[in-house]
Amino acid sequence: MTSVPNTLTLKPYFPLAGVGQDGWSDGDRATATCFCGAVQLSFPTQGPGLVDTFICHCTDCRKITASMFASNFTVDDTYLVHERGRENISTYSQSQTVTTGHTMTNHFCSTCGSLMYRVGTGFPGMSILRIGTVDDFSLHESKLKPRIEQFIKDRVAWLHAAEDVEQVQGYAYA
Ligand SMILES: [Zn+2]
Ligand SMILES: [Zn+2]
Repeated sequence: MTSVPNTLTLKPYFPLAGVGQDGWSDGDRATATCFCGAVQLSFPTQGPGLVDTFICHCTDCRKITASMFASNFTVDDTYLVHERGRENISTYSQSQTVTTGHTMTNHFCSTCGSLMYRVGTGFPGMSILRIGTVDDFSLHESKLKPRIEQFIKDRVAWLHAAEDVEQVQGYAYA
């Protein structure tokens, strides 16, 4: 049996996940930590600092995550805090395969490789974080639940639409 947090009470839920075990959430803000614990961010869990939440099935996201889709949330940079490990972040940029033609820069932990956020020239002043790096897993089910599912045209056929999530064939932010 797996234990599933009660999503109605929004009780913080910090399972054993990764080496960094000092994540926190206090209702207004929460942490996102890389797999080895070297890099930790904190971000607001509601607007205006929390801009949006979305799933992306684009071919880049499949390759970047080494999985079938990315689950993301966008944060206004003025609300984003690097709690530790900023010097341990490496970056990689390219624009060749980005559908919109913009340059996207990946920011990942130099030690463990966790992708912490992406910054795009199409989203000035914002960083696109990863729901999976958020330490309080109850937020994955509640405040960070994706609002939009985009590039569903590229979704693998064996995966169904997320429940109560707006479906968009291609790019949702055009
Ligand atoms: Zn790391
Ligand atoms: Zn994508």
